[in-house]
Amino acid sequence: MTRPAVAFIDLEAFRANYQLAASLSGDAQCVAVIKANGYGHGICEIAKELPLSTLAVACVDEAVQLRASGVDNPIVVLEGAFSVEEARIAADLKLQLIIHAGYQIEQLETVAADIDVWVKINTGMNRLGFAPPAVSQALSMLRGLSSAQVLGLMTHFACADEIDTSETKRQLALFSSTVKSLGNAADGLLLTAANSAALLAYNASHFNSVRPGVMLYGSSPFAHRSSESLGLKPVMSLESRIMAIHEIETDECVGYGGTWRASRATRIATVAIGYGDGYPRHAEIGTPVWIGDRVVPLIGRVSMDMLNVDLSFHPDAKVGDVVELWGKNVSVDEVAKSSGTISYELLTGVTARVPRQYL
Ligand code: PLP
Repeated sequence: MTRPAVAFIDLEAFRANYQLAASLSGDAQCVAVIKANGYGHGICEIAKELPLSTLAVACVDEAVQLRASGVDNPIVVLEGAFSVEEARIAADLKLQLIIHAGYQIEQLETVAADIDVWVKINTGMNRLGFAPPAVSQALSMLRGLSSAQVLGLMTHFACADEIDTSETKRQLALFSSTVKSLGNAADGLLLTAANSAALLAYNASHFNSVRPGVMLYGSSPFAHRSSESLGLKPVMSLESRIMAIHEIETDECVGYGGTWRASRATRIATVAIGYGDGYPRHAEIGTPVWIGDRVVPLIGRVSMDMLNVDLSFHPDAKVGDVVELWGKNVSVDEVAKSSGTISYELLTGVTARVPRQYL
């Protein structure tokens, strides 16, 4: 028997989430964001579910991995190239590069090979992109290179997941006015701004191309709206099994630091999964864990390879029972909230030690 910690990946749920995203996009191109190993779900396996979609990855290395496994979809590299060498690889592999800074235009000049590019506009995220007044010059420099074809213009929202809509509306207005100020130079270009949150909450942000990520994996981009209420289906089920059961006395403690003390005699279980597998060490006492047909609370500190739960309200649980850490019964969004983080970090943080099994 092998160690029981496994991430089951429900590819049918993934396809259903993509269909939902595509139907919300209407006529806009729906680019599937599959960076960071497909948000932890396995980049090549996820890509193969979308033979007709344009895919987006963070870096050239991720695209190299996809091409090596036979994926021939159009691929957008969101960070663009870091070096001339990467730009050359991108041209060879027919990748689309996001150009966000002047040095990348110089790289393309050196490479002088045919390549499709997008120009990124910084409308307020202040991470990557040309300031609006610099976009016109960047566009004409790129068009001056015989090797580069400009496909489109993009921006990225900082706050589209928040209840307060003011910053997203401001970014959207700035993106639109920047595009407008380019006049004929923007004719025929693709325009992309929307991540999952904007795709779901701001129709005006769809333009003719959208870039959903986290919703494809069944997680809600919003802290204030559940994935279920959005019609999303969880794709990853992180599971393991009970490896030991103990009866402890009143006042005995559990785990490193003894952070949980029994207020009465308690039956507890030890589960074979820990932060070495990507379960968050900062999960609070009481974080829901699913065993059999009900939720039981996490107790004590999460260790590298194990964690403990209180079986007071689950007298039938026994060694070998399946435990779901997140998935169909306990949402990854809930575990993230109980751990002071976001689902993105939990999903991408499932470590290589945990085999992915595809359903
Ligand atoms: N576009 C860019 C540039 C991103 O960096 C990301 C993810 O971080 C996305 C789109 C997808 O965002 P989300 O996963 O929130 O849908």
